[in-house]
Amino acid sequence: MGDFNEKAALVTGAGSGIGRAIGLGLAAKGAYVWATDHDLAAAKGTVAMIEAAGGKGRAVRLDVSDEAQWQTTFELCDAGEQALTILVNCAGISAIADTFSMQLDDFRRIMAVNAEGTFLGMKHGVPRIAAAGGGSVINISSMAGLKGISGMAAYCASKGAIRMMSKAVALECASLRNHVRVNSLHPGLVDTPALRKHIDAAIMAGQVPQDTDPAAFHPDEIAKTAVPIGVACQAEEVADLVCFLSSANAAHITGAEIPIDGGMTAG
Ligand code: NAD
Repeated sequence: MGDFNEKAALVTGAGSGIGRAIGLGLAAKGAYVWATDHDLAAAKGTVAMIEAAGGKGRAVRLDVSDEAQWQTTFELCDAGEQALTILVNCAGISAIADTFSMQLDDFRRIMAVNAEGTFLGMKHGVPRIAAAGGGSVINISSMAGLKGISGMAAYCASKGAIRMMSKAVALECASLRNHVRVNSLHPGLVDTPALRKHIDAAIMAGQVPQDTDPAAFHPDEIAKTAVPIGVACQAEEVADLVCFLSSANAAHITGAEIPIDGGMTAG
């Protein structure tokens, strides 16, 4: 089938959007995919799609903010037939709230899922990938990890943490010579269920004028002005980049922050 036969990949947040596309993309190249999500039914939906396309995988309930669940999940992977060599930390949440009215618990929850979840994945995953002879960790940050966005301080903080944590762990792996590469990806506007929810929230919060044509809220319309190249990114394009970074062709790429944003952070 492809480049990743005999290899296993663990993807978090694999039940929807970008994580689902990554699971499908890696499976299409032959990887056995541990499709994890805190929503087990959603993860099962992804595995059904993988199997329908001729791939292999298993759905696992994993709330990435819970260390015990990470340990249980990795124990399942340890018992699997294929060595785990790819870890994609994709699960993420966001909220639109200005800093001055945001509750501390809401800030902490975003940090717990996005930043702590990525930390826990690497803490328990990297030694396993190293024991398998090396591989690739890809952490899904955001353009919000490269530039500030008004009304999204918690999300920016969490995605900036992913960016710098990825570089630090890349260097730890390099000095161990364990052949594990770690990189962060920084998507801009990707047409996913989360983005649509986000747009709805902005409308509810009165962040767009009442008399705006509803058609203008479609991601493709927003992209015409928000994205320099004028089009929204598709989740499959992020999946293609993950497949490249997981392959031997990316052997020299580690500690890198890679925007996939149609130029949104270029200026
Ligand atoms: P999505 O909401 O479509 O998918 C996110 C998935 O994560 C869902 O299946 C959800 O159930 C799961 N999830 C949420 N909390 C979890 C938890 N605690 N443990 C495990 N799983 C959990 O979102 P998406 O747009 O596909 O985003 C995926 C990632 O990409 C996120 O990290 C997001 O911040 C990032 N991102 C998205 C965009 C975009 O425009 N869509 C842009 C930049 C970055």
